[in-house]
Amino acid sequence: MQGKLIIFSAPSGAGKTTIVRHLLKKFPELSFSVSATTRDPRGSEKHHNDYYFISKEDFLHRVARQEFVEFEEVYSGTFYGTLRSEIERIWNAGKHVIFDIDVEGGLRLKRKYEADALAIFVQPPSLAVLKERLSGRGTDSEEKLQERFLKAEKELLYADKFDVILKNYDLNEACAEAERLVRAFLTS
Ligand code: ADP
Ligand code: 5GP
Repeated sequence: MQGKLIIFSAPSGAGKTTIVRHLLKKFPELSFSVSATTRDPRGSEKHHNDYYFISKEDFLHRVARQEFVEFEEVYSGTFYGTLRSEIERIWNAGKHVIFDIDVEGGLRLKRKYEADALAIFVQPPSLAVLKERLSGRGTDSEEKLQERFLKAEKELLYADKFDVILKNYDLNEACAEAERLVRAFLTS
């Protein structure tokens, strides 16, 4: 079957991963699209579960073989991408796909899958709060944080290009609103 696609995009630190994890607990019919990346695992992240952690050489071979539906050099020298085989794996299991990907990748998937995709932009209250959340997560070096802050400023300008803007001010409210959006889309 061809299922649907639910795309969560936002600058790093806006709360996508937290909201997507919440939705995965609530909706058994959703399955997370595990992206491939050339960055190293962080904290408790596991290969196959959070990402397919692969070498840059392997990544670029896969690009040449056109294995990605979209990919991006999200940070200088660090690639992330959605494998075509990942979407097929999830649809073949009879599930819908949920994505946590960067703003440009999210818009690229929306353009490709059109009405089968719901593209949601997660909006933090302000750039200052976004910076606090990102620093508070405690997973990135000072250099990586600066790179993420710089990119975040640009990414906040893309919000209007998405189907929906989901405000993540209070986390419980954002999760409840995300549930409503997903339920409405899956039953439409
Ligand atoms: P992203 O996946 O968009 O990079 P995360 O889900 O990792 O963002 O969230 C970044 C940090 O902000 C995490 O430490 C998370 O617990 C925290 N966070 C997420 N949403 C909220 C919120 N509404 N209020 C306060 N902290 C939040
Ligand atoms: P992180 O290193 O914090 O896990 O992710 C950095 C950024 O890359 C986040 O904005 C995340 O959503 C994005 N990202 C993760 N997977 C993909 C992917 O497959 N494609 C694209 N374009 N971005 C991705």
